[in-house]
Amino acid sequence: MSATEAAAGLSSGELSSEELTAGAIERSTALDPRLGVYLQETYERALEEARSSDERRANKRSCSAFDGVPVAYKDIFVTKGVTTTAGSRILEGWVPPYDATVVERCKGAGLPGLGKLNLDEFAMGSSTENSAYHTTRNPWDDQRVPGGSSGGSAAAVAAGMVPWAWGTDTGGSVRQPASLCGIVGVKPTYGRVSRYGIVAFASSLDQAGPLARTVEDAAALLQLAAGHDPRDSTSIPQEAPDFATGMDGGVQGLRIGIVTEFSTDGLAKGLRDRVEESYLRLEKLGATLEEISLPSFEHGISAYYLVAPAEASSNLARYDGVRYGLRSDAEDIVAMTSRTRDEGFGTEVKRRIMLGTYALSAGYYDAYYGKAQKVRTLTIAELERAYQNVDLIACPSSPTTAFRIGERTDDPLEMYLSDIFTVPVNLAGNAAISVPCGLSDDDGLPVGLQLVAKALDEATMFRAAYAFEQDLSWAGSEQSRPRL
Ligand code: GLN
Repeated sequence: MSATEAAAGLSSGELSSEELTAGAIERSTALDPRLGVYLQETYERALEEARSSDERRANKRSCSAFDGVPVAYKDIFVTKGVTTTAGSRILEGWVPPYDATVVERCKGAGLPGLGKLNLDEFAMGSSTENSAYHTTRNPWDDQRVPGGSSGGSAAAVAAGMVPWAWGTDTGGSVRQPASLCGIVGVKPTYGRVSRYGIVAFASSLDQAGPLARTVEDAAALLQLAAGHDPRDSTSIPQEAPDFATGMDGGVQGLRIGIVTEFSTDGLAKGLRDRVEESYLRLEKLGATLEEISLPSFEHGISAYYLVAPAEASSNLARYDGVRYGLRSDAEDIVAMTSRTRDEGFGTEVKRRIMLGTYALSAGYYDAYYGKAQKVRTLTIAELERAYQNVDLIACPSSPTTAFRIGERTDDPLEMYLSDIFTVPVNLAGNAAISVPCGLSDDDGLPVGLQLVAKALDEATMFRAAYAFEQDLSWAGSEQSRPRL
């Protein structure tokens, strides 16, 4: 059942939140040993919250449209009284004293919280294999990764353990796992959702985003948390528009750009077929396709792997063994901090800290960080120019379908290339969605289509994704469900 269907069942009285939540818990309990999506479940709390929601409804007290529909969070959103680790040993056992704005707003809307979902350590990765705790498995094939870093969120939604979930996307971490698990994932415009209470990775790129089984659900979950928050100085000081309004308006007359530099030539046939059919489907529905050139996009990965580690090296300086989580024993404070960081951080996190510190160091700053920022400026300028002629840009979400566990762990560069189509969008700050476009004939695994909108134009993005999803008849179909 989609979250929208669940909400309809609640408002008609056919369903109670307690039943719905107990159902999600039952399925989660049955499947989690195999898939490993949770880092911390909060089932008892969720049931209490569900019962309060049912009482609110019974007493005709004010209820939000989704009051009583449960949700779960990537374990990078801080949750009051519930352990938050960001997938790292360095935060093991850390219990935050407050809720992230996203969590606070979802709680405020009456959504019971089922728990905290697995991720790559500090959201650095594309497979969840960098989690310090365990690897999450893809519900379509448990020998494969669900993508990452929001892999726990994507797998939980795809497996029907939760109706919808929150993830974060710094370079692709919502869209890529959504694509690999056959569900919808959104990276909103930078600043659309408050970053307050999200464990920081790369602050100029990080955005929270919803993962859901339908476009309508993704828009609705985003709606619950979007809008200005004075506690995040980069949050856009305006209210979000109503994303549902006009969502069924179709794509007639929309101009959709296909990026020359993102040729599908090098991609596996099964994936390429689905993506190219998707372009034609949009055209058949009334959109016009236009070839556009974005030359700086080919430098996206290089620029991202300077900017993101640079910001990470600074953000992660706070884990000193004094303020949060782990503290290793040592003779003095310098040795204590150094040992805590050695024992608390995993290999990939250490690699990023070293890359970032190097890129920011005197003498190298202009050559690396400075140059990456120039690529970023070019990316923004090229996109602005492109959007004078098109309304949206279409491309694959990921260059491959779900890969095998262990396949890319020895080669960081290959892992980094997972985000080739998603990273430029974070550098520019625009909004983008990954929507399922069928299964590859090569391996029977899901393929995702990415639609990139102008900054603040989520409405057009949702409208096109919705038209596409309806025409494909994917959501809720037999084909869209992994066999579990
Ligand atoms: N895979 C990319 C990285 O490892 C993006 C991660 C993300 O979006 N959080 O940095």
